[in-house]
Parts: sequence; structure tokens; C-alpha cells
Amino acid sequence: MPELPEVETIRRQLAPLVQGRRLQRMEILDARWSRPLAPRELSDALVGRRIEELGRRGKYLVWSMQGDVHLVQHLRMTGAVLCEPRPEPAHVRVRIELRPRRRLVIVDPRRFGTGELLLGGEALEAFFAARLGLEPLDERFTAEHLRGLTRGRTAPIKALLLDQRRIAGVGNIYADEALYRAGIHPRRPAGRLSAEQHGRLREAVIEALQAGIDARGATIDDFRHVDGVRGSFQDQFLVHRRAGEPCGRCGTSIVKMTVAGRGTYVCETCQPRPRAAPRSVRRPRARPAARSPRR
Ligand SMILES: [Zn+2]
Repeated sequence: MPELPEVETIRRQLAPLVQGRRLQRMEILDARWSRPLAPRELSDALVGRRIEELGRRGKYLVWSMQGDVHLVQHLRMTGAVLCEPRPEPAHVRVRIELRPRRRLVIVDPRRFGTGELLLGGEALEAFFAARLGLEPLDERFTAEHLRGLTRGRTAPIKALLLDQRRIAGVGNIYADEALYRAGIHPRRPAGRLSAEQHGRLREAVIEALQAGIDARGATIDDFRHVDGVRGSFQDQFLVHRRAGEPCGRCGTSIVKMTVAGRGTYVCETCQPRPRAAPRSVRRPRARPAARSPRR
């Protein structure tokens, strides 16, 4: 699934191609894409409006149109937005024509992608407030903020990184890469990170995402740029999808395990396994067995 760096890559490529243009025609070929609205209801609400800004929140693209009308698009597993593809590719779900003339198609072989209409800035804010935590590239994403998110939590830290309601935009790739950079095992209970680890993990999340953006995203599955080109960050993964290869720091073989229901890649030398949780109720210490026979 495209994560923050992939969606940000699309946004950066697409914004100059669409901002300031008017939506001339929109043909939604797949009723699943526009649910709960019928395709016609969604296109009628958008056609004729100028695209003022193409933004991003978490893994969502936000098309902000004239009149405070917003289209919130999620690419899910295999969605892509292509500009002027020739010939038209397979699996087209939506065709868009802009004025001055520009043709876009949204392709999505697995058809999980969505487009939702939100009327007004307040509706837009409420939509994201219910779904997304802070943007990790926001300056308010500090070690202190991370500490607040993790406090008292027994779930593995990787599960917390993947939870969009706590941190927006981090998915399976960047969670693995960030935890490796921070030297933290993905199974470590979130509430048991030290103050130093909060600081390291915050830095590592930002660095991993920034490296992904700099490489213009990673292509596994179907992620494609607006011109159909694939991202290259998959060639720079430090641990993700590298099971059996040596760790670049210590040479230990990278292992694959399941954490939070997801395939997870770890160097268990650089990211030591957490020790068993301390018991909340202290049991009386068992007496050591007498070693010497009593006389
Ligand atoms: Zn290592």
C-alpha cells in the first residue's frame, strides 16, 4: 500500500499539473470508488469547479476545489493516478478531464481505492480528526508527543506506529525501517520505551519517511508515479523485505517475523528482543534449595 512518502510523491508531481485547472468532465466507471455516493452524485458535485490545491493528509490525497468542496482520495493497495497515459491502461476506474486540457485516469486493479466528497472545511477537519493522528513531518511531532502516545500501552511499538489514528501515514515499510534505524525491536511494548528511545524513534520515523520522499517512494505491488514510472526506495531498504541478507551495521542475518499481523523484518542484534515484562505483583522469592545436606 502506498504510504506517506508514496502519496506525497504523487502529490508533488500532480499538484503543478492540476492546480488552477477546472474539472471539465469526470467519469466514474466503478460505483465502489465513490461510495456512499452514486458516481453521478459525486461527479455532479465536482464538475465545473476549479482545483485550488492538491494537498495530503496521512495516506490521503486531498483535492480542494473552488467553493470549499473537497475530494478526499485514498489509493489503498493498488490505486494510481496517471497523467495522459497512452494508450489507456487496464483497470481504469475514473477518467478525469481538466481545462485547460489535461487528461487523468485513476487505475486500481484491486479496486479498494476510494473518493469521498466533503463539503466545507469543517467537514474536512472532522473527517481527519476521526481518522488520523499527527503528521510525523509536523513540527509538533516531538519525542514528548510520542511519549504521550505510548504511555501505558502494552501493544507492540510497531502496532502503535501502524495505527493511523495515532500517527498519520506510516505503514508497514516505514515502520520496519524506522524501528531498525532506532535500534528498537518491533515487539517491544510501546509503554516500555525509554526517554532516549522516544527521541531516537521520533528521529528515525522522520528520517525513514524523508529518505522515502527523496527517493520518490517505493514500488512494491503497483505504486506508480503520475507518469507511470516506478519509485526506487525499495532498492534502499535497510531491513524491509531483506530476510536472510546481512544487516548493514553488524552482519547478522535479517529475520522475518509477524508483528501486529504484518510481515516484519528485524536485525535481532541491532534491535534486541524485549525481556519478559516485569510482574505487576511481586511474588515472594522462592527460597533457594538447600544444597548441603542438613546435619
Ligand atoms: Zn544488525
